[in-house]
Amino acid sequence: MRRRDFLAAGAAGLGTTALAGCTTTKATTAPVIPGAPADALVQPIDAPMAPIKSSMDRVTRTIVGLRPFRIPGPRLETVKIGSKDVVHNYGHGGGGVSLSWGVAELAVSKIKEFGRRDIAVLGSGAIGLSTALDLQRSGADVTIYAKDFPPYTTSNVAGAMWHPVTLFERDQVSEETLTMLDIASRIAFSRFIRYANDPKYGIYWIRQFSLSDREMNTRYPYVGGDDLYPGMRRNYQNGPFGFKYYDAYYTLMIDSDIYMRALVNDFLSNGGKMVSQTFETEADLQSLPQTSIVNCMGLGSGKVFGDETVTPIRGQLSFLLPQNNIDYGYAGGFGERGTLYSFPRKTGILLGGSGDKGDWDMTPRQSEVERMVEGHAWLASRLT
Ligand SMILES: Cc1cc2nc3c(=O)[nH]c(=O)nc-3n(C[C@H](O)[C@H](O)[C@H](O)COP(=O)(O)OP(=O)(O)OC[C@H]3O[C@@H](n4cnc5c(N)ncnc54)[C@H](O)[C@@H]3O)c2cc1C
Repeated sequence: MRRRDFLAAGAAGLGTTALAGCTTTKATTAPVIPGAPADALVQPIDAPMAPIKSSMDRVTRTIVGLRPFRIPGPRLETVKIGSKDVVHNYGHGGGGVSLSWGVAELAVSKIKEFGRRDIAVLGSGAIGLSTALDLQRSGADVTIYAKDFPPYTTSNVAGAMWHPVTLFERDQVSEETLTMLDIASRIAFSRFIRYANDPKYGIYWIRQFSLSDREMNTRYPYVGGDDLYPGMRRNYQNGPFGFKYYDAYYTLMIDSDIYMRALVNDFLSNGGKMVSQTFETEADLQSLPQTSIVNCMGLGSGKVFGDETVTPIRGQLSFLLPQNNIDYGYAGGFGERGTLYSFPRKTGILLGGSGDKGDWDMTPRQSEVERMVEGHAWLASRLT
């Protein structure tokens, strides 16, 4: 079945859990959260937008992360390595936080086929923690083995706006992977919605815009299907900031530091164990006491498992002092100013826009800070 046929067929042929994920996420209207405080509700897409105050004296910090990009797309696959049954769950590029609950659920259904209770999860980012939590939910005893734990993971650096993007190279991805990503996206979104507006998890609704002076590309649907994104407008005219064209939709803003801390607390309070361990090669897996293993080591998987299709996409983010009147995010390519995006976290206004493939350098670049601060100030000036 082709990917579009699959979406049209409403997920026929899926297991019941995945099907539940698909059917619960068909939202086409603006989200209204019963009982939420007034300041947590999203504004209409066309509501006026306050400008962000982008200047160097408002920058509070700058961080760098390496997106775990895999050229043919994320890997979700069962393999045998020596005496171990291993499910690979890595390579989620620029959308790993967004996809996390979806790929976790799919990975758990694969590892449960082996029927063992004691399970190892390698990696403690968003993918490893959500996989571990879903395993616990299914009754497993879970130990996470990782080199680094939150807050020292790429997942803590993530933007993290809910929108799975930068997941594969279009001419290298299989129809099977595209279908898996659609299923995972729909499961994941339905799971994230349950955390919205709970301060413990740092997740809330925003309105999001893609901006351009050229017609927007509508050749491909958004990952998961356009109907997954509440309020979706594609290639509308007369956009905000004076741009000719725009896409707009409602989505979830995930404050990754708050969110990752909450996942660790949930995992530990469910009786999970965390062990500090670095794996150099796949032979190292043989020393683990568990026979069933889910590999969620992100970028590290490339080296450990000899997967040469894995490569970093370097991203740098700066944060401005918070503004409580900003309820929108935006992204676009702006000619000589390059790519820019901004997300409104309650802990600070996030400025981003870098994506350097194959670049392993973790040092913040002052020139990028200045480009972003100036570029976002220019965008803000177009609102007035
Ligand atoms: C600037 C930036 C912005 C982003 N924005 C977004 C966004 O808006 N939305 C979104 O969904 N995603 C976004 N992402 C992407 C997202 O961060 C990743 O896709 C996601 O974090 C991947 O999760 P992970 O758990 O696979 O990897 P990680 O968080 O990197 O976790 C990997 C784990 O594996 C462990 N590990 C690795 N190698 C080894 C080893 N050899 N031995 C033992 N342990 C090992 C690590 O220590 C860590 O615990 C962004 C990323 C960046 C850098």
